[in-house]
Amino acid sequence: MERTGFTYDFPRDSLLSVGDLNPLDVQMIFERARHHFDAARHNEENTRTLAGLTQIHLFFENSTRTQASFEIAARRLGADVVNFIPGNASISKGESLNDTALTLAAMRSDILVVRHRAAGAAAHFARVTGVPTINAGDGAHEHPTQALLDAFTLARRWGGIGGKRILIVGDILHSRVARSNISLLNLLHADVRLCGPATLLPADADRWGVSVFHDIDEALEGCDAVMALRIQKERMTGKLTPSDREFATLWGLTHQRLERAAQDCLIMHPGPINRGVEIDEALADDLDRTVILEQVESGVAVRSAILELVTGRAPNQSIADMRTHDVDDRRDEA
Ligand code: ASP
Repeated sequence: MERTGFTYDFPRDSLLSVGDLNPLDVQMIFERARHHFDAARHNEENTRTLAGLTQIHLFFENSTRTQASFEIAARRLGADVVNFIPGNASISKGESLNDTALTLAAMRSDILVVRHRAAGAAAHFARVTGVPTINAGDGAHEHPTQALLDAFTLARRWGGIGGKRILIVGDILHSRVARSNISLLNLLHADVRLCGPATLLPADADRWGVSVFHDIDEALEGCDAVMALRIQKERMTGKLTPSDREFATLWGLTHQRLERAAQDCLIMHPGPINRGVEIDEALADDLDRTVILEQVESGVAVRSAILELVTGRAPNQSIADMRTHDVDDRRDEA
């Protein structure tokens, strides 16, 4: 391969927000994630790139997919993983978050993976400890690894994201997945649409570089992918939502509704899914349409790549070695 003389090394030692990334960073993550994705599909043996490192998980909020996939990714690459369980820990004896963070840093941990209900919690851990930290969801603020795995899933399918029309539907107001996805999809030049009940759309959403719709049938027109979001009842104080039945009737995804979307429109969901509410049963199980399990599969690959990149353990961690350009590929544009 001809060298251009230009090299770019992954510059971050934490991943706290999609806003910290530029398209080259995303390209590096995808390139390495593609390696892990293919290796897992072909049952290839993993290189123990994270051997000797200790990764601590601090999940102050529940998690199924995110925690398990960080753990699988780290173990496959040879790291030791310690799961800190807040209910059993000194936090329940009154220890402050700062003291917990400093205690964990004093144990010479190498990576922290943090989920907390407060916006900015992961950034706070990174600042206080100086340990590379990954934000695994901070309240309604951000969930950067979810957005990266979603975009990776689409980029693998399409070759590129630029110019594609992607609708995010549901509870946008309380969704960290929506916020991180909007930043990332905008960075990658997608055409992003939002739709949901007026009470669950942020008042300033029209200033986020997206088109806002209230009618799902209009919003679906020509969409290449639709991302359905759960109503986050745990983050609500008042009664902001329609009933499940009303939500399903007005905003739920069905085969019939998809007739206005592009013919091969993909259905996504970050999970956990409420069948019959965000997506009806038949569509949720239609593997020609939904890529929900592929998102989970991508999650392990993308998190493997991120762990290697933030710890400086990715082999050939330089843009000069990359072969694909899948983050801003507009060849699908008319
Ligand atoms: N799993 C995602 C999150 O942690 C979405 C959800 O919970 O609905 O934000």
